[in-house]
Amino acid sequence: MSGSSKQERAKLIQKKLNQLYPDPKIPLKHTSPYTLLIAVLLSAQCTDARVNQITPLLFAKAKTPLAMSKLSIAEIEKIIRPCGLSNNKAKAIRNLSKQLLENHAGRVPKTLKELEALPGVGHKTASVVMAQAFHVPAFPVDTHIHRNAKRWGLSSGKSVIQTEKDLKAVFKEQSWTKLHLQIIYFAREYCQARGHKKDDCPICSML
Ligand code: SF4
Repeated sequence: MSGSSKQERAKLIQKKLNQLYPDPKIPLKHTSPYTLLIAVLLSAQCTDARVNQITPLLFAKAKTPLAMSKLSIAEIEKIIRPCGLSNNKAKAIRNLSKQLLENHAGRVPKTLKELEALPGVGHKTASVVMAQAFHVPAFPVDTHIHRNAKRWGLSSGKSVIQTEKDLKAVFKEQSWTKLHLQIIYFAREYCQARGHKKDDCPICSML
């Protein structure tokens, strides 16, 4: 990496990502904040492609907190088994649906704090929902983004919390949500954990 400053690198990276992914689509299929929340919860340690195969089956049975809370944990688990961690995820889906009914009039709340208080919902899941369902700027950091921020010298990579802080400081707020998707698409295509193809890579070669 040359002696360019963090700001300069960030600018170059963003320009390249805008060329490569001008209009990144939200990868998880959903029709409402609630179905997005469930899809994001299911995506923990599971591919988006698999989640997109399973959610239509689940939502055909229940696509609202009320309908979901009427299913048993065993019924939910049977459907979502291919996504892995199905016992924990089924419990979380049922319990959070009940909490939405009891505490939020059956709606997904629009604050990070309230979202993070729901069963099975951590900071990253809550941030994705804020960004993609409610269009509130957020920078959810998954393993792809964490790794790339370090490789690009935008963060020390000490922790995901630090990476989120560093990325938020270096990029403008209105671009956070789009960049989050762009970096994920880029990392999946070029920048895997192992075996990156430096010669074919459109980013590190220009930094
Ligand atoms: S794939 Fe590209 S962006 Fe990722 S570390 Fe390798 S050279 Fe850098």
